[in-house]
Amino acid sequence: MRAVQVSCAGGPLELVEREIPEPGPGLVRIKVQACGICHSDSLVQEGAFPGVEHPRIPGHEVMGVIDIAGPGVNGWAAGDRVGVGWNGGYCGYCDFCRRGDYFACRNATRVTGVTCDGGYAEYMLASASALARVPDELSPAEAAPLLCAGVTTFNCLRHCGAQPGDTVAILGLGGLGHLGVQFAARMGFRTVAIARGADKDPFARKLGAAEYIDSTVQDVAQSLRSMGGAKAVLATATNAHAMASTISGLAPNGTLMIIGAVPTLEVSPLTLLSGRRAVKGWYSGTSIDSQDTLEFCRLTGVRSLNEVYPLSRASEAYERMMKGEARFRAVLSVSE
Ligand SMILES: [Zn+2]
Ligand SMILES: [Zn+2]
Repeated sequence: MRAVQVSCAGGPLELVEREIPEPGPGLVRIKVQACGICHSDSLVQEGAFPGVEHPRIPGHEVMGVIDIAGPGVNGWAAGDRVGVGWNGGYCGYCDFCRRGDYFACRNATRVTGVTCDGGYAEYMLASASALARVPDELSPAEAAPLLCAGVTTFNCLRHCGAQPGDTVAILGLGGLGHLGVQFAARMGFRTVAIARGADKDPFARKLGAAEYIDSTVQDVAQSLRSMGGAKAVLATATNAHAMASTISGLAPNGTLMIIGAVPTLEVSPLTLLSGRRAVKGWYSGTSIDSQDTLEFCRLTGVRSLNEVYPLSRASEAYERMMKGEARFRAVLSVSE
């Protein structure tokens, strides 16, 4: 099969020929149709993820069709349209799984495209517990980015503590943020988009934002307070200062929900305790969360805006994403 791999830490993305893998017990083989390119793929390319081994095929926004189901796989069959995200599956019997926290499974060894090969290839293997059903109405390129960018923003927002009508702000208007604004608006929140520059105002409103804050000229926290404070802020931008500057704009009992990975964040405990505010990180989700995301998109019309590239141009697409030039997600079209 054709695949794009990283042969060593820091090495380029190379188009290579690889053996088509055979599914062992509990695994399925997927004929990949499309795979999104995510900033976290740089953890593989740069070798920054703990224990990552090379050569490795990246890709954890995978959409395809089951080709063969391996031994012991129940409930899934050849021909099923499926998606796979970052969470590569879980055991179902450890203490955390038994408490319903599947994302924290103690026996999970598969992080898609990181600790096992991912979707920058014509075929890949996936654990049955990592599979999400994809509605027929979503094309492969539409579905792929929803398996990481989509589920991360959707699942975070539905756990942010806000109710319909509450004010929810989305910090950042890139690959994650443009989905976050759409989801928040469709969930019935008074959605506030925060980004840099007045030029993004019409775009934010087109996505469903009721308000727009231009952080280059407005005081973000003060603007949020003038709206009564945000019940939640979804921080998608990987900018610690921008995140911290929203905290005093939270309403009493409001929460800053972080999905953009920054190494450190300076928080004033006084600001937290005086308003009983919280700062919380959110893990994207497991396969059923992805499935809920896909279904919500089918129902409400939320779509990722994508640049689509053939597999052979993966390296170019990856560079565009890393430079922040992709509008708004880069997706590899692998097969029909
Ligand atoms: Zn991702
Ligand atoms: Zn487990």
